[in-house]
Amino acid sequence: MKLPTAQQQLFETAPPPWEIDDAECRWIATLVLPTGPDQEFDYLVPDELRPRLDVGQRVRAPLGRGDRAVVGYCVRLEHRPVGRRPLKAIREVIDERSLLSSAMIRLTRWMAEHYLCPLGQVLEAVVPAGVRGKAGTKLTTFLSLAPEVAGRIKEVTTGLKLSKKQAEILRYLAASPEPVTPVQLAHRVGCTQGPISKLRRKGLLSSRTSRLHRRQLAGPPAEREDNLQLNDDQQGALDAILEPLRARRHETILLHGVTGSGKTEVYIRAIQEVVSYGRQAIVLVPEISLTPQTRQRFRSRFGRVAVLHSHLTDAERHGEWQEIARGEVPVVVGARSAIFAPTPQLGLIILDEEHESSFKQDSAPRYHAREVALRRASAENVPLVLGSATPSLESWHRGATGQYRLVSMPRRIFDRPLPSVIHIDLRNETRDHVASGAISRPLHAAMKAALDDGGQVILLLNRRGFATHIQCAACGHVVRCPHCDIALTHHREGSIALCHYCDHEIPAPTNCPQCQFMGIRYSGLGTQKLEAEVRARFPDYGSLRMDTDTMQAPGSHERALAAFRSGEVQILLGTQMIAKGLDFPNVTLVGVVNADTALHLPDFRSAERTFQLLVQVAGRTGRGPKGGRVLVQTFSPDHAAIRAALRHDYATFAAEELPHRRELAYPPFGHMSRLVIRSPQEAHAREFAAHLGTLITQCLARHEAAARVLGPAPAPIAKLRGQHRFQLQVQGDDADAIRAALREATQDVASPDGVQWIIDVDPLDML
Ligand code: ADP
Ligand code: ZN
Repeated sequence: MKLPTAQQQLFETAPPPWEIDDAECRWIATLVLPTGPDQEFDYLVPDELRPRLDVGQRVRAPLGRGDRAVVGYCVRLEHRPVGRRPLKAIREVIDERSLLSSAMIRLTRWMAEHYLCPLGQVLEAVVPAGVRGKAGTKLTTFLSLAPEVAGRIKEVTTGLKLSKKQAEILRYLAASPEPVTPVQLAHRVGCTQGPISKLRRKGLLSSRTSRLHRRQLAGPPAEREDNLQLNDDQQGALDAILEPLRARRHETILLHGVTGSGKTEVYIRAIQEVVSYGRQAIVLVPEISLTPQTRQRFRSRFGRVAVLHSHLTDAERHGEWQEIARGEVPVVVGARSAIFAPTPQLGLIILDEEHESSFKQDSAPRYHAREVALRRASAENVPLVLGSATPSLESWHRGATGQYRLVSMPRRIFDRPLPSVIHIDLRNETRDHVASGAISRPLHAAMKAALDDGGQVILLLNRRGFATHIQCAACGHVVRCPHCDIALTHHREGSIALCHYCDHEIPAPTNCPQCQFMGIRYSGLGTQKLEAEVRARFPDYGSLRMDTDTMQAPGSHERALAAFRSGEVQILLGTQMIAKGLDFPNVTLVGVVNADTALHLPDFRSAERTFQLLVQVAGRTGRGPKGGRVLVQTFSPDHAAIRAALRHDYATFAAEELPHRRELAYPPFGHMSRLVIRSPQEAHAREFAAHLGTLITQCLARHEAAARVLGPAPAPIAKLRGQHRFQLQVQGDDADAIRAALREATQDVASPDGVQWIIDVDPLDML
C-alpha cells in the first residue's frame, strides 16, 4: 500500500491499532524505584523471564549511562509495540511471587498522590522489610532429571557406565512427582551426597534454587469462649454492619459507643459472619492495645489470628505475611501498618479507637491508616467500621454530614452507670495553701476511701520524670537542652537531667550553670515525683508506675498489668499509657492529677486531645458491680473541653468545638498541609522556608486555589536535635487544587546543603 508522505510519517511514529504487526509487540515492564528519581521506567522483558514475571514483583535492571544495577517494582506489564527509543532489558526477577496485587498497587498510587510522596517510597512502606529481605527463609536447591535424560535412563546408564546408586537416583527422580532437595534425595535413595554430585557434574540433573520458608510455631491454642448474649444496642450496631456486609457493598459505619459499651463483642460477631463466607477481616488497634488481653480475646473466638505488633522479628512478620497472602488466616489484628495485610479476599475492616493519633505515620509516607482504610474498603467493596467513645472530629463531622453512618451505643453493658466525674479546682487549693504536693485533700480522701473499701486506684499524670524543670531562684535561668528548644526534666534515678526529645543527659546540677547560685530549684511535677508522694501517703498499699521510662524492657507492660489485675498492686499511676483500653472491674477511683497538661499546647487540637484523654481515663472505672468515680484536678474548670468531659458529653463538646474549627478553616473544614524546614544553620532554614513559601504562593495562584499560606514561622519546637525548625502551613477549601499546587512547587526544588524539609498532608503533629 502506497501512502501519501504526511500520512506515512504519521504512521511511522504511531501506527493505528489495525496496522500493528503483532510481531513488533514486545512485553514491556514499567518499573518504579524505591529510592532515587520519582518516575516510571520502561524495560523490555526478555522471553526467558516473561513466565516468571508478574506485576508487583521486584526485578533488577540496568539504569543510567553506567548501567548501574537497580532494584525496581514492576507496576505494569504490557504487550505492546516498542516505541522508537531503544529500551534496556530487565536482568533478573527477584521475587518468586507478586508482593502487591493490582488493587494494592492502585492503593499505593492513591497514597503517593494524596500524601505527596514518591510512589517508590510508598511501595517500600507497604511491603514489610522482612518480606522484602525474605527473612526466615533459606535458599534451597531442588533437583530433577535433566530433560535430555528423561525417558532414556537405561541408555544413559549403560552408555556412561553409571554406578548402581547413580542409576537408582535417576530412576527415583524420573518417578518423583516433584523436585527434591539433595538431602531429601540422599535420604530417600539411601546414599551419600557423592553420587548425587557426580550426576550433577555430568549434567544429568537439573537444579533450581528457591526459597523455603521456615514454618513458625503457632502460639498455644487459646481457650474457646462462647458468644455473649448481645444487648439491644449491640444488636443494633451489629445489624448496621451486617447490612452492607451481606449486600457486598461499601459503607463506613461510625460506631460511637461509650467506654464499656461492649464494642469489641460487636466487632467479633461481625467478623464471625465474614469468616463464615471464607473471607478475611482486618482489625486495626493502637499499638498500645495489642496487649495479651486483646490477643486472647480474638484468639479465643477464632482459631487462627495473625497478631501484627511491633515486637515481631522480621522472620515472624514475613511468616505471617505469607500465610495471610495464601488466605490461611481469617483474622488479622494489628497496628497501623496491618492495613496493608495482603488478604486475598477481604470482607471487612475495623478500626478500633479510631481517634488515636498513632494511626498516623510520622515518617514518609505520612499516611493515616483511617484514610487508607477508607480507600481500601471502598475499592474492595467492603464495610469499614470506625469505633470510639471519643471519635475524632473529622469522623464525627463526616457522620453528621451523611458520609458515614453514625451508630450509637450510649449505655454501658448491664446498664452500669458511667462514673460520676467531679473536678477539684486547683486555684482554690493553691490559694488556701492547703495543698502540699500533687495530691489535693479531696483526692487524698477519695483514694483512702477507695483503698479502704478494697478497691483499686488509677492516677493519671501525663508527664514523666521527677521535676519538669530546673530553674535558678537567683537569676531565673532554666536548664535547657543545648540541641532542642526545651527544658530538661529531672530524673531521680541516676540523678540526671534529661531531654525528652533527644535523650541528651547531664548530671543533675547542684548549682546554677549560669550564675553558680547554690539555690537551684527543681519544680514542676512528673510521674516519678508523684510516685514518691503516693508511696509516702499510702505506705501500706502497693503502687506501680507505668510510663516510657519504666516500660522499656520487653514484657514489662504485660507484667505490670498482670500485677494490677491480680490485686497485688492497688495503685496504678502513669502517663496516658494507662488511660486507654484497660478493663479492670475493681478500679473504683480514677484521679487525674492535672487535666491541663495538654490544654495550652500550640495545637488547634489541644482541646480535643484533652477531652479525649479525660473521657478515656474516666472510662477505666465503674466497670464492675462496685461502680466508680473520677476526680479531676484542674486550674481551668470552666474550659469547654473539661466541662464536657465531666459530663461524658461528646455531642456537646463537638457542637462547641466545631464552630471554632469552621471559623478558622481548620480540619475537618478545609484542607491543611504543613511543611517543616530544618537546618543546623538558623538563617539557612529560614531563607529556604521563605523561598518555598513564595513558590507555593505562586503555584496556588496558577491553580486558582483559594488557600492561605501561614509562615514561614519558627515551629513551636523551634530547635530539635541541633536543628533549627521553621514551618509553613497551607490551608484552604479546594484540597485537590492545593495538592496540585504543592506538588508543582516542590517537584524540582533543590534545598541548599544542610537544609532538609518534609511535607505533611493532613498533619496531626503540630509541634
Ligand atoms: P468497650 O470496648 O466498648 O469499652 P468492651 O468491649 O471492652 O467495651 O466490653 C466491656 C466489658 O463488657 C468486657 O468485659 C466484655 O466482656 C463485657 N461485655 C461485652 N458485651 C457483653 C454482653 N453482651 N454481655 C455481657 N458482657 C458483655
Ligand atoms: Zn534535646
